[in-house]
Amino acid sequence: MGPRLRDTRGRMLRDMRISVTDRCNFRCVYCMPKEIFGRDYDFMPQQLLLSFEEIVRVAKAGVAHGVHKLRLTGGEPLLRRDIETLIAMLAELRTPEGERLDIALTTNGSALAHKAQALRDAGLNRVTVSVDSLDDATFRAMNDIDFPLQRVLDGIRVATEVGFDAIKINTVVKRGVNEDDVLPIAEHFRGTGATVRFIEFMDVGTTNGWNLDQVVPSAEIIERIGAVHPLEPLRPAYPGETATRWRYLDGSGEIGAISSVTAPFCGNCTRARISADGKLFTCLFASHGHDLRALLRGGCTDAELEGAIAGIWETRDDRYSELRSADTPTERIEMSYIGG
Ligand code: SAM
Ligand code: SF4
Ligand code: SF4
Repeated sequence: MGPRLRDTRGRMLRDMRISVTDRCNFRCVYCMPKEIFGRDYDFMPQQLLLSFEEIVRVAKAGVAHGVHKLRLTGGEPLLRRDIETLIAMLAELRTPEGERLDIALTTNGSALAHKAQALRDAGLNRVTVSVDSLDDATFRAMNDIDFPLQRVLDGIRVATEVGFDAIKINTVVKRGVNEDDVLPIAEHFRGTGATVRFIEFMDVGTTNGWNLDQVVPSAEIIERIGAVHPLEPLRPAYPGETATRWRYLDGSGEIGAISSVTAPFCGNCTRARISADGKLFTCLFASHGHDLRALLRGGCTDAELEGAIAGIWETRDDRYSELRSADTPTERIEMSYIGG
């Protein structure tokens, strides 16, 4: 066993996205609609979540197979108590070549202003903040808990001050909801060093009422921005990058587009996802995960855990986005559970 692990389509295991909680304080309409995630929604009890030690063991097993990038997500990862302790533990890991891992976190930004320094000190390299609108009323409506935009912008400002290696902004674009926010968002972050990535609304889970009419194709987004601020395409920063990238011709930075609906990128998808209760999913759209928590709590050794992950990866043949139109599985996992 070693970092040369490949799936049935020759894809390596390079990235691990780890969901640290299924809970969230927001109720974004495209992710955790209130009608489903209401007051009496059954979130996972604490004892079913992987502990920090268990998360580190899973990450370490992934690293033994070639993972060099970790992304913490959720739910809202900053709701997990002492998340900075977990980051510090993960920052101790080294690749077989002795290199540090690249550790990133995706957040709704609501708690970023007071957490950013501790996250940076713990060893977090990069942060991605989700911002769907710069219009306060639209922002409040999209998070559906009336959360004010300014607090998220404050979080981004503090994150900029503490000096992460990179800050990205994720914007999910929904037809008729925030498509007119695309240009203002691009303009707001242009020249700040933060890269905005526009994400096509995806048919994750079964509760967000997805339909193709609500997707704004990335090509249209890029066209809208490029018409005002000329852009040129860039090469991927690394193989398996999910976003396609463009650079402003005037040198004021770059933007990205994640076109999982109109231009699927399964061919170089090198990501494994770990749900908060320790299931390994080999695709965002997988209908079932492999229970690593049972192995961990059954007393497996590190070698056994690595062997289990190898077995799962080597039989992987997922390419859901490429097959989307053909046969959509009816049972899919919610984004808040698997973490995006
Ligand atoms: N709560 C954190 C946040 O919102 O950034 C992390 C978890 S969230 C599930 C991760 C990313 O998935 C966010 O950028 C969010 O906008 C995106 N997302 C959620 N549901 C989506 C959907 N149906 N289509 C596309 N992106 C989605
Ligand atoms: Fe929460 Fe993030 Fe989902 Fe919004 S996108 S409901 S912030 S997990
Ligand atoms: Fe990867 Fe699955 Fe998304 Fe394709 S659909 S890019 S295999 S997560």
